[in-house]
Amino acid sequence: MDCDVIIVGAGPAGLALARSLADTGLDIVVVERQPLAAIADPCFDGREIALTHGSADILTRLGAWDLIPEDEISPLRAARVLNGGSPFALDFDASGEEPLGWLVPNHRIRAALFDAIDGQDGLRLVTGAEVVRVQTSRAMAEVELGDGSQLRARLLVGADSRLSGIRGLLGISAEVNRLGRSMMVCRVRHPIPHHGIATEWFDHHQTMAMLPLGEGMSSAVLTLPSADIERLAALGDAELGAELTMRYSERLGPMEVAGPRVAYPLVTTWSWHFAATRAALIGDAAVGMHPVTAHGFNLGLRGADLLARLVRAAARRGRDPGATPLLRAYERRHRGASWPLYAGTNLLVRLYTEETMPARAMRHAGLRLGAKLPFVRPGIRRVLMAR
Ligand SMILES: Cc1cc2nc3c(=O)[nH]c(=O)nc-3n(C[C@H](O)[C@H](O)[C@H](O)COP(=O)(O)OP(=O)(O)OC[C@H]3O[C@@H](n4cnc5c(N)ncnc54)[C@H](O)[C@@H]3O)c2cc1C
Repeated sequence: MDCDVIIVGAGPAGLALARSLADTGLDIVVVERQPLAAIADPCFDGREIALTHGSADILTRLGAWDLIPEDEISPLRAARVLNGGSPFALDFDASGEEPLGWLVPNHRIRAALFDAIDGQDGLRLVTGAEVVRVQTSRAMAEVELGDGSQLRARLLVGADSRLSGIRGLLGISAEVNRLGRSMMVCRVRHPIPHHGIATEWFDHHQTMAMLPLGEGMSSAVLTLPSADIERLAALGDAELGAELTMRYSERLGPMEVAGPRVAYPLVTTWSWHFAATRAALIGDAAVGMHPVTAHGFNLGLRGADLLARLVRAAARRGRDPGATPLLRAYERRHRGASWPLYAGTNLLVRLYTEETMPARAMRHAGLRLGAKLPFVRPGIRRVLMAR
């Protein structure tokens, strides 16, 4: 064997797994397509990741949380869901002193995880390299890189995003839903304070979220059919600011564009298997969530943490980190935790983007019911704040 574990993809999920396997004595190779500079010092990509308490705890344990600049961590004090033109709002607030969660720019999470693995014993990073072939057997997993070199390991982990090439090379099929809509993210300045409240507004023919950052600053997240997003993304700053102000009904006053706008075509994916012989999928490669419920990375981090705990326990006992029972346990537990969130999010998206009368009536009733039923709001709060 050339190493014990090969992780393909140095995104946040792959780096979190690599870091979680520190001090196990295992030799780990991380293979990443992008050049070293792009992962050591990633560019701002517009994503403000809402992190749960559980995720913040994992990042703290990995030594990454303290590497995120303090002024880049914005507390999420409350969340509000609005529906169409209705004045009714479903509110969630934190119980006690602690916020519901935190917003952290994606590139800061990636940079912190990269810094955390820097100099880690037993870890090799191969950048600017792509895996082009995979072969697995009961004895080992073998990958071939673009330059023809080969690597063999006891465990191969695909952390290579939602349209995962590793998944395809392993022969694992997936549900892939291309939604024909895109999400544009852009930082804006506004005169009316946000009070740390994130708002998700399921309006007719558009979904708009405002995520609270520093004082007088939010991230505007607008979802529309892809052609409309392309048109908006091409506007000048002043025109875009005016468009966002109008689309948000001036709730935060006139908005001024304060950063680059980035558009993400929406694709959700669900892998039919999270594990195969000597291989596992983590992060978006396992489940690619719709961003509306802000759970993609939170789930990816949980999956990486679960796999790491199983591999660490095997390594402690001198056992095989790519053994079939271990991978089956990972698959069973992570699929069980992911499916309700994946299916529930897709249902929510369908209900809140359909414009038929029954759908409109159901979403109105859904929010009212959510406010009335005693377990709904505390239940969601518990999910966000669970440690
Ligand atoms: C607009 C938006 C908002 C979001 N908001 C939230 C949120 O609030 N909360 C939340 O929890 N999640 C959120 N997410 C989801 C979150 O960003 C993703 O779940 C997370 O970034 C996925 O990380 P990953 O490491 O699995 O994949 P990625 O970040 O995509 O990384 C995959 C890596 O693999 C590399 N790679 C790919 N193929 C190969 C190959 N063949 N060989 C070598 N390397 C390869 C790529 O270069 C890349 O570096 C949001 C997503 C979007 C788009």
